[in-house]
Amino acid sequence: MADQRIQVMDPHLAAKIAAGEVIERPASVVKELVENALDAGATWVRVEVENGGAERIVVADDGSGIQAEEVELAFRRHATSKLKREADLDRLVTLGFRGEALPSIAAIADVVCTTRANDEAAGTEVRIDSGAFERRAVARQPGTTLEVLGLFSRFPARRKFLRTRSTEAAACLQVVVPLALSFAEVRFEVRIDGREVLRTPGRGTLREAAAAVLGSDADAHLLEMNDELVDDEGRVLVRIRGLCGTGSYHRASRSGQFLLLNRRPIQNRTLGFAVHEAYGSLVPVGRHPVAVVQVDVPPDEVDFNVHPSKLEVKLLRERAVFGAVQRAIRTTLGSQGWTIPTWDAVAPVPGAGLGWPAAGSTLGSETAGEHSGPAAGGLLVGGEQLQALRVVGQVGSTYVVAEGDAGVYLVDQHAAHERVQLEALRASLAGTDAERQLLLEPLVVAAPAEAVLEVERGRLELLRLGFDVQAFGADALLVRAVPALLAQRNPERLLGEAVTALVRQTHGLVADPQATWVERLALVLACKSAVRAGDSLGRAEMEALLRQLGETALCRTCAHGRPTAVLMPFAQLEREFGRR
Ligand code: ADP
Ligand code: MG
Repeated sequence: MADQRIQVMDPHLAAKIAAGEVIERPASVVKELVENALDAGATWVRVEVENGGAERIVVADDGSGIQAEEVELAFRRHATSKLKREADLDRLVTLGFRGEALPSIAAIADVVCTTRANDEAAGTEVRIDSGAFERRAVARQPGTTLEVLGLFSRFPARRKFLRTRSTEAAACLQVVVPLALSFAEVRFEVRIDGREVLRTPGRGTLREAAAAVLGSDADAHLLEMNDELVDDEGRVLVRIRGLCGTGSYHRASRSGQFLLLNRRPIQNRTLGFAVHEAYGSLVPVGRHPVAVVQVDVPPDEVDFNVHPSKLEVKLLRERAVFGAVQRAIRTTLGSQGWTIPTWDAVAPVPGAGLGWPAAGSTLGSETAGEHSGPAAGGLLVGGEQLQALRVVGQVGSTYVVAEGDAGVYLVDQHAAHERVQLEALRASLAGTDAERQLLLEPLVVAAPAEAVLEVERGRLELLRLGFDVQAFGADALLVRAVPALLAQRNPERLLGEAVTALVRQTHGLVADPQATWVERLALVLACKSAVRAGDSLGRAEMEALLRQLGETALCRTCAHGRPTAVLMPFAQLEREFGRR
């Protein structure tokens, strides 16, 4: 029978058990090591992940380095240079402070640490192999490289819990992304199995970092936020900065939402809900807005200590922060074309059903009174109204002018048509196969090799869109059929252009795993196939456009979030002309 007496654990075993709490999976290693690099004041951080991180993880930086005689110490439990007294816990400015990461990692993997402190002439390499240290002097620039080999290889039970190589690799990337946004002045580089999946410029602007993370198209749809909540004495209680996406720049998942609290990426249901609420019905049900919300509160008003991975936090004034996040997003949206600046609404259009949440309705009591939302109403146009319009004509070869019961409508022909095309393409993806138009003779379209690969991979989905297309050698596509929907608009060339455009954005799109490749393709196709500003339209075309727009559920905005139509109510005209 086993010995049942209580025993003090062998420290080696204790370290292994503790390690399991800090290091759940390869992504935990990446997170801890990147945080250490940032704490060390690095201006660049390079991350390499091989075989989902189980085989090899490398994190290199140009930070302060570790003194030669302190390297072994850094791998001891509760050894940290960041927290000396309990009182320091209230004003932590570093990401790490527990002194648990390095020993935990060394307990479950082989580690090679190469480092050189700024004031030392040579570097030091320390290998930790099953707990044994081996050191030698090496040449290197100031900074630190941690190489973690064979994670969990001595713990087969643990290793079995790892998901697939690509899932683990994606998780590694996902812990770096919010840090890259929070530390925009640091240049980040992430390579997965040798392939670069993220590179930020490190020039200090959040906008540039966001473009690197979200894709180059993000820039046009992100609005800058800057707001603060001040108490009676003028002390800043909450500062909100960052970027929020326009109302229809949304995703199928929350992958485009980042909350950074005092520069730490966090997850917080309440604040996540504040973001969601701030957009209200601007974002369709089941879709999620894109936002990078930087919240700063006084350091003694937040407790990062509640969860070992520091993702969950406790906030002293959660309600105030909630209100501040909402207000910042709403005022930003409201001030940027999500209302009509010169044509103030007299009253919201009846039946529009897409209005703003009532001002202040869900704000914390602290801010309810001072909420300054967008101008009331915002002239939202509902679908049923568009169908009953009488076309007056076209102005500037760009806008359709129409008259309805409520007033005069101006419709942006490109925005409107883009929305119509997108919804039709989406419908064919969601439902039965799209109507295909067979080409009399198959067409060969040149495309870059990467695009050809993408097309091969997405063949079945493309078929649902209406494209019968396959690889034709390494750098051409053979097109047999095109969607009837696009038949008028040179579809084979469209396909080549759209696929190429998508391939170019690929690395930014990693962050949105849920939007499938073909959904994104539909978006590009919709844009490229829509009538352009400057195309002159006949009356029948304009009437058809308004009718189709009226029939689409999301008629209010184009695929990029710009409004499709604005309304000048008759009541407003009467006021302008002094009739009332
Ligand atoms: P913590 O970050 O909580 O202090 P770690 O176990 O992550 O604990 O690291 C232990 C110590 O090793 C740190 O306090 C720091 O002094 C040193 N260290 C770790 N990584 C680096 C690095 N990349 N550059 C400089 N010093 C480092
Ligand atoms: Mg650390």
